[in-house]
Amino acid sequence: MNNKFSYKCINCNSSFIPEGKDYLCKQCAESNNSTQPPKGVLKTIYNYPAIAGNYGGDFIFEKLAERDFIDILPIQSIDSFPKLRVGNTPLYKVDSLNSKVLDFLLYLKDDSQNPSSSYKDRASALVSAYAKENNFNTIIASSTGNAGSSIACMAAANKQNTIVVVPAKAPLAKLVQIKMYGAVIIPVKASYDDAFRLCNELSDKFGFYNRNTAYNPITIEGKKTAAFEIFSQLENKSPDNVFVPTGDGVIISGIYKGFEDLLNLGIITHVPTIISVQANGSSNINNNLDNPKFSWNKPNTFADSISVEIPANFYMASGFIKKYNGIAVNVSDTEIREAVNLLAKQYGLFSEPAAATAFAGLMKLYNKNLIAKNSSNVVLLTGSGLKDINSVLSNLKLPEAVSPNIDFASQLIAKSGLI
Ligand SMILES: *Cc1c(COP(=O)(O)O)cnc(C)c1O
Ligand SMILES: [Zn+2]
Repeated sequence: MNNKFSYKCINCNSSFIPEGKDYLCKQCAESNNSTQPPKGVLKTIYNYPAIAGNYGGDFIFEKLAERDFIDILPIQSIDSFPKLRVGNTPLYKVDSLNSKVLDFLLYLKDDSQNPSSSYKDRASALVSAYAKENNFNTIIASSTGNAGSSIACMAAANKQNTIVVVPAKAPLAKLVQIKMYGAVIIPVKASYDDAFRLCNELSDKFGFYNRNTAYNPITIEGKKTAAFEIFSQLENKSPDNVFVPTGDGVIISGIYKGFEDLLNLGIITHVPTIISVQANGSSNINNNLDNPKFSWNKPNTFADSISVEIPANFYMASGFIKKYNGIAVNVSDTEIREAVNLLAKQYGLFSEPAAATAFAGLMKLYNKNLIAKNSSNVVLLTGSGLKDINSVLSNLKLPEAVSPNIDFASQLIAKSGLI
């Protein structure tokens, strides 16, 4: 169908020519069952020497600086993207933490600034573009909430239909987004893992194009673009460390894949240290890195976007972490809550719990003095706090309403110590 890219199965190493609706390696998928992480996720491979040779180093730098990644994306034209600004999100440099001046460089990449307010738009935009080029008019996805609202958003802008299977317990704002963008919503009285399975069954039965994360290799390619942006925003330098919140393990694999593409193009000489940060209550990637007898715990964390039992991209994520000496850090819900508060109050960045998890990981290493002096560190903030206000409402006391009277108002201000 095209000779721009091919796929390679990460479990059996077989290569495949893309056919259109490409999901898992069929041979490996045969032995998959719902109690183990799926085998057969496909990695997208380009003709790196040809791309590097075509352009020469400088031109590629220029293209990266212009955020034009078309040579290393599995689509033919950037015109296929929904006409929304996806990615190209700010990278903020901050100088202090808890009023202490930092002796390392700290950058916050604010991906809540995507159209549907989460990092998922990077994957959804590319899936939507790919579907457009291949005339797949209906896209189905399962989601804890963000992937669903994201694909509904991108498909709306690209004049496509969407069906989203989502736990009925997902945060209300995410359910509302899915409906507002015009998707068919299927709320299920079940977990995200159950929604994922049902989505695959529906796509098998009706032929809808399936956006399920990692199951569809294009999702990983979409999620890699932040790595190119970080490199270019740091003036063509890699950071030393990137902190990533991890659930199914697709964002982290995307970040690795992005830096690995740059490595394969001869643009960088080594891949940064990636820190996989998971919630204690949903840490099945971090906890099984060296465990040949997997143990899968039921998820239990208030960070809904990273609450997953069987990580859809376990093998790729753990493979990357081991190959490039990544670091696994788990944090408690209390630490995540602190990170949400700290990001909002110190930097003006209101993140949902899953997004603040990466920052909680940085805090943990910082408190143990494990962040090297002068090192450069990027934390991915993957979603907006407005998507899940209930998660903070329980710890937040809004004062009772008062009459618009200067005495009442003064009393409230006095409590804060400002007068
Ligand atoms: C999906 C999501 C993550 C985790 O990404 P995975 O690819 O599942 O590891 C982190 N933060 C937010 C806000 C998300 O929506
Ligand atoms: Zn295979």
